[in-house]
Amino acid sequence: MVKQTIQIFARVKPTTKGGAVYSVEDDGSCLGFVVPKDLADGFINNKRESYKFRFQKIFDQSAKQEELFDTVAKPVADSVLAGYNGTIFAYGQTASGKTFTITGGAERYSDRGIIPRTLSYLYQHFSQDSTMAYTIHISYLEIYNEMGFDLLDPKHEASRLEDLPRVTILEDPDQNIHLKNLSLQQAGNEKEALNLLFLGDTNRMIAETPMNQASTRSHCIFTIHLCGREPGSATLRRSKLHLVDLAGSERVGRTGAGGQHFTESKYINLSLHFLEQVIIALSEKSRSHIPYRNSMMTSVLRDSLGGNCMTTMIATVSAEKRNVDESISTCRFAQRVALIKNEAWLNEELDPALLIARLKKEVQLLKGELAMVTGEQRSEKLSPQEIQRLGEQLKVYLDDSDSEAMLDVGPDMRKICHCFSELKTMVCKATPASFTAGDTSAITLVKDIPTPEEVKKLKDMLVQRDNEISILVSMLKKEKKRVQDAVSTAGNMEAQSSLQSSTANLSDESLKGSEDLSPLPRLLQRKKGLELSVGRQEAFEIFKRDHKDQLTIEDNKALLKLRYTEAKALGEKVNSARNKVNDLKKQLELRRRQIAAQGVMGNLPESEVPDPMEEKLLAQIEEEKNMYKNTFGKLKGMKTEIEHLQLLLEKQKFKLQKDFEDWWTHEAGSMQRSVPEETSAAPTRTPTLSRPMAIRDTVSTRMIKKEHELSASPLLNLRESGLHPQVDADLLAFIKARQNILNKIGQVQR
Ligand code: ADP
Ligand code: MG
Repeated sequence: MVKQTIQIFARVKPTTKGGAVYSVEDDGSCLGFVVPKDLADGFINNKRESYKFRFQKIFDQSAKQEELFDTVAKPVADSVLAGYNGTIFAYGQTASGKTFTITGGAERYSDRGIIPRTLSYLYQHFSQDSTMAYTIHISYLEIYNEMGFDLLDPKHEASRLEDLPRVTILEDPDQNIHLKNLSLQQAGNEKEALNLLFLGDTNRMIAETPMNQASTRSHCIFTIHLCGREPGSATLRRSKLHLVDLAGSERVGRTGAGGQHFTESKYINLSLHFLEQVIIALSEKSRSHIPYRNSMMTSVLRDSLGGNCMTTMIATVSAEKRNVDESISTCRFAQRVALIKNEAWLNEELDPALLIARLKKEVQLLKGELAMVTGEQRSEKLSPQEIQRLGEQLKVYLDDSDSEAMLDVGPDMRKICHCFSELKTMVCKATPASFTAGDTSAITLVKDIPTPEEVKKLKDMLVQRDNEISILVSMLKKEKKRVQDAVSTAGNMEAQSSLQSSTANLSDESLKGSEDLSPLPRLLQRKKGLELSVGRQEAFEIFKRDHKDQLTIEDNKALLKLRYTEAKALGEKVNSARNKVNDLKKQLELRRRQIAAQGVMGNLPESEVPDPMEEKLLAQIEEEKNMYKNTFGKLKGMKTEIEHLQLLLEKQKFKLQKDFEDWWTHEAGSMQRSVPEETSAAPTRTPTLSRPMAIRDTVSTRMIKKEHELSASPLLNLRESGLHPQVDADLLAFIKARQNILNKIGQVQR
């Protein structure tokens, strides 16, 4: 374990303007600011106030990226390689050079920042170190407004921040933090790792808008997950390196360079406020509760702050005069951070699979050794013959009245254990009452002979138990047969059942109201379905036919049907291949038995030449197996497609249903308002009805009107028109006749 305070460094961003207000002293470890005193206490005070802050090292304006990497990042990378966790974070106001330091400048290769240089360093190390095998995974998390986003998900083409997968925090019972939905991408080489960095930065850029100003208000955490192991060893070393580009640290409510008000000013970024709270709590020795949970960022960086990590902070400051307040704030923050002590430990763990493999190998070796020493091959269990022989030996030993009698089973733990276990059983069976300590003669190994009544009772019980057993056996047989039947049909069903059940209703050409919707809407629709009058059903049929999505639905249905047929064919092929394999196996077995029998009979000399028939059968089996595998693979692929199609279809159908409901409600509402003035049907509107929408309007309006006329309380009765079968039948006839006419009109007009 390594105890270490957080290392702090400062970097001053180059400025073109003169008049810098800072100085670097003490061989580059002290950063000083001199600020003219302001209008404190209402009068001009021309004294100057100076501030001094100590750092591990200060990188002045001319410092190169390489120098920074060598001093700051390389030691951290080395400790990560050794199995410790590491974090480097950059803190400072917007435009002070955080991104430049962590990721690098966009223009020159030499401006590469800590991330690309660290990656390069790590991969170079891998190629030189042949004693360890390493793997790297990368994650890239952006935290904006307390929400986490995965910058690396390759499936998401982000156009907004919200399009990126949302990352959430889970805490396990041991209070370890897990990030749900944050993808870990393996990077086999430097190029792949850089590609990931690029992908993340691009996503970050695309997602930014002038409104959200994500790059100044969000935190980005680029994490390198390293796993190293010595070849052949079961010990894994897993370490993480977080490279963190924090949000801009600027504050509001500044009161100028007066000094005493700095701590009162507020961060623009709330989560930086929580970061400061955590840092304050950690730097106060007496505090036991550290408020990590207050924000996502402090939760994610929990280990890096006061935990199992070697942590380094880079305070980025701007040298310009107008930024001096912020620069001083940044340095003050760094001084607090420097008080935090972390305890980093080696992240070693055992790989259970490897350990088991190694132990198995060891057992095998020991068995081999044992066989060599004893001259006999030992199996795990004693053979029946051995057990029988032991039983005899044990009996001789027990029957021997000589107190010095010995039971010698040889140096074999299996035999020794077996004898002990037998003896224990015997002792336990002996009545406990007759066994008292010191009185070993009381151990009766043969139980007392029971009385005739007892014998009868036992016999009766035996008969009863036999009956019970036979009942159970017959039940079991039935159950077994049922299972077998199910299994034998399962061949067909297995691959198709899920398809069949969900596609069965698709063979029905028409969309029967709610029948084939997904479970939740189906439930809703069932309820409504009860209220669906015949008239309304008819209206739905027409609505559906004219709906713009209907074509797509029909297409998808047709495609689904086609896929279903294909899947069925594939399923049959899979089945037949499996049956063939089974057949061939039987033949092979038969053949082998025949040959063995012939060998035993001495009819044929045992031949070294392989049997051509057997060869042929084997080849056939292989062929069928391949066929089975291929077809099964295809079937699986098709299943995915079918499931996808089903989802699409369900979504479309649900939308259609919803559109209809909305339209119906709307129509019913407007009828309710217009009916009083327009009590009679309006045939004059029909000539304009060549547009499908118009057809729908009129038909439905008419239906509703009719229902309205028949009812004193129209809206109520609309819902209940199913109660008037005669009305519905009339309506139906009317609608059909009308539709025919309209179709004709449509044709004429076209
Ligand atoms: P931040 O991430 O802190 O908001 P940036 O890293 O984006 O700030 O820096 C702001 C601008 O200053 C960028 O154009 C960057 O290239 C430039 N810059 C920052 N630090 C340096 C430096 N040390 N040398 C040269 N240019 C720098
Ligand atoms: Mg930045």
